[in-house]
Amino acid sequence: MSKMNSLKTVLCDLDGVIWLAHEPIDGSTDAIRRLRENGIRVLFVTNNSFSTRAQQHAALERVGIAAEGHVVTSAMAASTHISQGERVLVCGGEGLIEEVTHRGAEVVVPYRVDSVVGDFDAVVVGFHREFNFDILSAALTAVRGGARLIGSNSDPTYPTPHGPIPGGGSILAAIEHATGVKAIVTGKPHQPMADLVASLDPGVGAHEMMMVGDVVSTDGAFARTLGCAFGLVLSGMTSSPEGIDADVVGANLAAIVDQVV
Ligand SMILES: [Mg+2]
Repeated sequence: MSKMNSLKTVLCDLDGVIWLAHEPIDGSTDAIRRLRENGIRVLFVTNNSFSTRAQQHAALERVGIAAEGHVVTSAMAASTHISQGERVLVCGGEGLIEEVTHRGAEVVVPYRVDSVVGDFDAVVVGFHREFNFDILSAALTAVRGGARLIGSNSDPTYPTPHGPIPGGGSILAAIEHATGVKAIVTGKPHQPMADLVASLDPGVGAHEMMMVGDVVSTDGAFARTLGCAFGLVLSGMTSSPEGIDADVVGANLAAIVDQVV
């Protein structure tokens, strides 16, 4: 793709694009600065539902990127499926608890109470290290009692410097299998995240956006959900562009920005 004169918003994944386990990727901070200097808005779009908003802002601040109000997480997307006053079993981390609480729901966190009792309107699932048999049981009982099942993302793994660890999608899969219910999944590449991004960037059309990410099945597919361009970086989970349908390919974010502004 030649220079995108119409480009107004870049949707930027975090892991594999800005950093690897919070170790900055060469040139990424400068690339964000160059986008902004060219009048292009950057929204950081991540399937991480574990970190709170403040933690995401602080992590970006540490690599020199001001991002308050510009981070969109799968936890925020999940909370759009919750209504004020609902009773919600949150099987997830701090970020998910924060967003569902922020929505005005009554939140029960299974690993913070002695026993989970009563009916629920929804079970919301994301990555958390406390997941165990008792939490699976509580989720099963709640869904059998009529609660909606909502997952922040369907990612099977999460990258770390020591190799992948099970992601929120693997926890969700266990709950789906036990309940026999397919969850509404809200993060990339699914529609709730696309709706959330569109609501945060009103007036900007899909042809004026580009999603930059390192994973074709989430970031590339999310670009398709939105109907926008896809910029593939080779600095994360994908090391070769062979056979991949991307509009722009770069070794890293800096190489993508070289091509679009
Ligand atoms: Mg990524």
